[in-house]
Amino acid sequence: MIESHNTKGLIFNVQYYSIHDGPGIRTTVFMKGCPLKCLWCQNPESQRLQREIFFELEKCTGCGICVQACSEGAIELFEGRSRTNRKKCSGTGRCAEVCPVEARKIMGRSVTAKEVFEEVARDALFYQRSGGGVTLSGGEPLAQPRFAVSVLKLCKDAGIHTTVDTCGYASWDTVQQVLSYADLVLYDFKHIDPAEHKRYTGVSNELILDNARKIYHELAIPMLARVPIIPTYNDSADNIKATTQFISSELGKNIKVHLLPYHRLGETKYERLEKMDLAVLIEPPAEEQMLALQEIVQSFGLEAVLGG
Ligand code: SF4
Ligand code: SF4
Repeated sequence: MIESHNTKGLIFNVQYYSIHDGPGIRTTVFMKGCPLKCLWCQNPESQRLQREIFFELEKCTGCGICVQACSEGAIELFEGRSRTNRKKCSGTGRCAEVCPVEARKIMGRSVTAKEVFEEVARDALFYQRSGGGVTLSGGEPLAQPRFAVSVLKLCKDAGIHTTVDTCGYASWDTVQQVLSYADLVLYDFKHIDPAEHKRYTGVSNELILDNARKIYHELAIPMLARVPIIPTYNDSADNIKATTQFISSELGKNIKVHLLPYHRLGETKYERLEKMDLAVLIEPPAEEQMLALQEIVQSFGLEAVLGG
């Protein structure tokens, strides 16, 4: 894969001083685009590999300036507020530029690998002192492989520790090329049963599990397992047992398992994207349940951590 400082990618956030995405103090770069569509997705703004509008209805005064500014004819006024036809919107961001009350924000920034590296490198001193570095997350970093490789290589060459947070759904060729520049992999296990995995995320997990085995055994990159706990979807004791069984027997007992309780912070994002039809209401798991699931993981001899 040809990597270059000028390779462009689409990101939607850069989080500084992050302490949940790998060791030490880190900068997490959130990339756009994901091949999965988890029903409970807490970052729906990450899913599409294109720029899109985040709209705060309560701020909109219905002035109509954005309607005039949109060359695609994607905005109309309805009941005193603007609304966007997402099929027509091409993500120019013009409406966000002209809105006088900042009710519109463009989600997605096109940047070169070098620009991202320069943002990340600013905190090099913190990384050295804390054992931190950079984490590529998303969305799915493997969905923009050339960009991911370019950023990771620049960071590695500068002595910055690199972590990739991935769902593992990509061709082995892509996985291998991107992760050859990773010092650590955060690997998601959303459901161990292939049919349930497909039902909740849109894809089966066979490729994902296969890639996990190869990353661990062939590439020998340190791995940390991340299991989101989503009530009624994947939080049964049986699923956590079977997931831990897979990790301990097919990968290794030295893999630390992070159980991540569902939180509701992502719910308003569906409103902002005008995708309320896709929002699901889920109550976060109770602390007792999280402790019980932690015990299950520990019973296999694995270290289990609650949270990031
Ligand atoms: S420009 Fe802003 S305030 Fe005016 S209608 Fe559009 S979104 Fe609403
Ligand atoms: S981002 Fe561009 S195309 Fe989309 S609604 Fe705004 S002005 Fe129209």
